[in-house]
Amino acid sequence: MSLAEIESGIAEACERAGRPRNDVHLIAVSKVQPDARVEAVLQAGHRLFGENRVQEAVGKWPRFREQYPDAKVHLIGPLQSNKVRQAVELFDAIHTVDRTKLARRLADLAQERGASPELFIQVNTGEEPQKAGVSPAEADDFIAEVRAMDLPLAGLMCIPPAEEEPSLHFALLGKIAARNGLTGLSMGMSGDYKQAIALGATHVRVGSALFGARDYD
Ligand SMILES: *Cc1c(COP(=O)(O)O)cnc(C)c1O
Repeated sequence: MSLAEIESGIAEACERAGRPRNDVHLIAVSKVQPDARVEAVLQAGHRLFGENRVQEAVGKWPRFREQYPDAKVHLIGPLQSNKVRQAVELFDAIHTVDRTKLARRLADLAQERGASPELFIQVNTGEEPQKAGVSPAEADDFIAEVRAMDLPLAGLMCIPPAEEEPSLHFALLGKIAARNGLTGLSMGMSGDYKQAIALGATHVRVGSALFGARDYD
């Protein structure tokens, strides 16, 4: 699909939900995509992108930003403690804060640099052992912990289990956010971004529907 088609899908979902269009940010997930495809979306005027690996993003975004200095990039994949400095230097937001040690490191760097990317806490709504994120039961405490570190917490993020109804997970994430006074909700991907918007998503992460299938070899 083209950027225009995704944009109109988002506009339609916003209208149906009675939400203003500018409530929802489209994160174009450019991981693994050939530069030419990313370039085409930049040329079409889109400026917000998502990457799931620090190394890959460091390899391409400084270059794209020479040409498009206003391009923004969000980290949507796991962040290892030894890559936090690189991550805060490159990314405008990090969606995958999920443990105390990482939050502390982010807080130290925020002190040192006098700035921090916007942060989202990843919640493992499906409680899947292989997935990152705090469990729903631990979320309230972890949110309080991150806030006490004076970090800019924008909201919560989730990746629902592949085989389950995503709306149940979106609703759960929305409930945890609401009871903690958080408004940012990073949820919804190519297959379910409209459902996510209906349930309050502020950041939808759309990859393959926009760029085409990812070719991993
Ligand atoms: C790859 C990825 C996406 C995009 O997935 P699509 O199904 O291609 O839209 C969204 N969120 C995260 C965390 C991802 O890693």
